[in-house]
Amino acid sequence: MRVLPIPCLSDNYAYLVVCDATKTCSIVDPSTLADTESAIVAIMNEGLTLTEIWATHHHGDHVGGVADVMKRFDVRTVIGFANEERIPEMTTRLADGETRTLGTIAVRGMHVPGHTSGALAYFCEAPGALPCVFSGDTLFSAGCGRMFEGTPAQMHASLMRLAALPSETRVYSGHEYTASNLAFAQHLEPRNTDVTRALALALDKRTNGHATVPSKMADERATNPFLRAAEPTMRPALGLPASATDVEVFAAARAMKDTFRAR
Ligand SMILES: [Zn+2]
Repeated sequence: MRVLPIPCLSDNYAYLVVCDATKTCSIVDPSTLADTESAIVAIMNEGLTLTEIWATHHHGDHVGGVADVMKRFDVRTVIGFANEERIPEMTTRLADGETRTLGTIAVRGMHVPGHTSGALAYFCEAPGALPCVFSGDTLFSAGCGRMFEGTPAQMHASLMRLAALPSETRVYSGHEYTASNLAFAQHLEPRNTDVTRALALALDKRTNGHATVPSKMADERATNPFLRAAEPTMRPALGLPASATDVEVFAAARAMKDTFRAR
């Protein structure tokens, strides 16, 4: 299994998920044909066939290119969450916990509502490769998406499920937001040295024009404030009493992030 990030629009990522053993690949969240075409052509020139499109959720900056990519590359299979009705090109419904294969890659759907009600993450495992997850706009590196269609309890539960994936899981999220997310994380946890280190690394990568994806799930648990509601430092940092629930801590952190501007 190989994963190739494709920068799209201003800060989106599409991804090519490649099974070299069977010469097949899928594309996750093609924002536009224009932004993804050259990467797809390049992979086809390696003798691979693009057989599937995987949609993490219905927002236009993730599925806007689906119809054009289908037509241009004769792709017949478009996968999304089983109960999502807002992706008209969808041909294949993947339910929570349901698995399918792309060549030698085992792909498991994870319904992760909160950013949208039909958000689906794709957890992939293949022989000889590190596991990875395509988390869309649910889990970002050091952050999480806004709750457009869910409650804090739903979003928190979705994030906790993702956080429970194996430590070595590589996290491929929908946007390049890592540096600004870590600035917020540092605001909340100024003494968290993992955050300080991660922020310096992310700024260095961005300065040199490199993507910060993927991150490791173990690092997300150590740095992502939206996975850290249970940490003892979080309640005082958010002005909450010790009796506050983890969901209340998560909700307060999300509300603070909504209006946070890095200095
Ligand atoms: Zn979105």
